[in-house]
Amino acid sequence: MTTSPFQANLESAISMDEADELRAFRHQYHFPIQSNGEPYIYFCGNSLGLQPKSTAEHVLQELQDWQNLAVEGHFHAKNPWMPYHELLTNAMAYVVGAHSNEVVVMNTLTANLHLMLVSFYRPTKDRNKIVIESDAFPSDRYAVQSQIRFHGYDPNECLLGLMPRPGEVCLRKEDIGAFIEQHGSSIALILLGNTNYYTGQFFDMKQISEWGHARGCMVGFDCAHGAGNLPLNLHDSGCDFAVWCNYKYLNSGPGGMGGIFIHERHLNQNGIPRFEGWWGHNKVTRFKMRDDFEAIPTAEAWQLSNPPILSMAAVSSALKLFEEAGMERLRAKSIQLTAYLEFLVNSLGKNVIHIITPADADERGAQLSIQVKNADKTLYDQLTKQGVIADWREPDVIRVAPTPMYNSYQDVFQFYEILKNALGDRHEQK
Ligand SMILES: *Cc1c(COP(=O)(O)O)cnc(C)c1O
Repeated sequence: MTTSPFQANLESAISMDEADELRAFRHQYHFPIQSNGEPYIYFCGNSLGLQPKSTAEHVLQELQDWQNLAVEGHFHAKNPWMPYHELLTNAMAYVVGAHSNEVVVMNTLTANLHLMLVSFYRPTKDRNKIVIESDAFPSDRYAVQSQIRFHGYDPNECLLGLMPRPGEVCLRKEDIGAFIEQHGSSIALILLGNTNYYTGQFFDMKQISEWGHARGCMVGFDCAHGAGNLPLNLHDSGCDFAVWCNYKYLNSGPGGMGGIFIHERHLNQNGIPRFEGWWGHNKVTRFKMRDDFEAIPTAEAWQLSNPPILSMAAVSSALKLFEEAGMERLRAKSIQLTAYLEFLVNSLGKNVIHIITPADADERGAQLSIQVKNADKTLYDQLTKQGVIADWREPDVIRVAPTPMYNSYQDVFQFYEILKNALGDRHEQK
């Protein structure tokens, strides 16, 4: 038996916080406040990230420029609106591990998923299936079902779900490979959440892309729970496209804008089907309002409208903090922070609690999904009353996501104490 590097006491949590190079970043965020005036322990960054303190200033700048310059702001605002989205591209590409020409911040996640499906789901009589996780996020499921119908096919036949083995919750990598091998010739598109929203399982995107491509399938990922959570290396993964939102781990505000990744090999391809709008047109001639669409040779070709600057200002301030903190340092802290949570939760006794997220750090990000025997939502309500904001999934799972950007080891320790008390006599005494 290996000995754990962790201890279940406050002193060790404090000393880990003192050794944490990123500890100051927490002060750059607004935490929600309980009625007793204390901040909540916030573990819901996988659902809606906290507001950076710098965001108000970024948004105000645009409000002021609009107030003072009106239409002239397109060219003369402090950050001119015409090329505003370009301000975000390098930081966004950095966070998801892509080349700058492969990424653009636009629209919202499900809208972007539809646009990507237009380009990358091109069913034929013999190859018309889409593979998703059997427990895919509902919006993704609705999007692909409706796209299958849009092309005149039947989702009951064309939508394949990857199912875990009986009695298991996560998918085994080798089973994904075997599935692709078996059904590959009829699969048009493999679309997985790169980090499953429910189990927290992180998939090997590179391997899955290789398997899919070897069988002639397109491969895309929904990185809603991956972007800002862990390095994604989208370019090197070789996947064809990816979509994500910026409001979860990336803290850009409720309903904040999404992002897309399109692998370089698909850029500047004349034949690619795409829904188009004026913001995807050559910037030099855009305002000549010519009849024929001339695509920008980057992922920007998929842009439709002139973008919402106020929303983009929030993305801009949020991404700056990721550049400052650095994805490598965030990931290093995240691995340790989540391992610490795992250690503490497991010490409560496996008869009471079962972590369904993979135990291997390479197969997960920040989140642990904790199944509590015989629990119902009253347990979750009790945690909230005690100052913890996490996330409850029926019937019995608490999703807890300590984010390396703004959570501390003390947050994790306090959560453990609150959970232990809430479990009361369910807690197995050793
Ligand atoms: C959060 C999330 C969404 C949300 O989609 P919106 O279009 O931003 O409302 C979709 N898919 C997954 C996998 C998610 O985690």
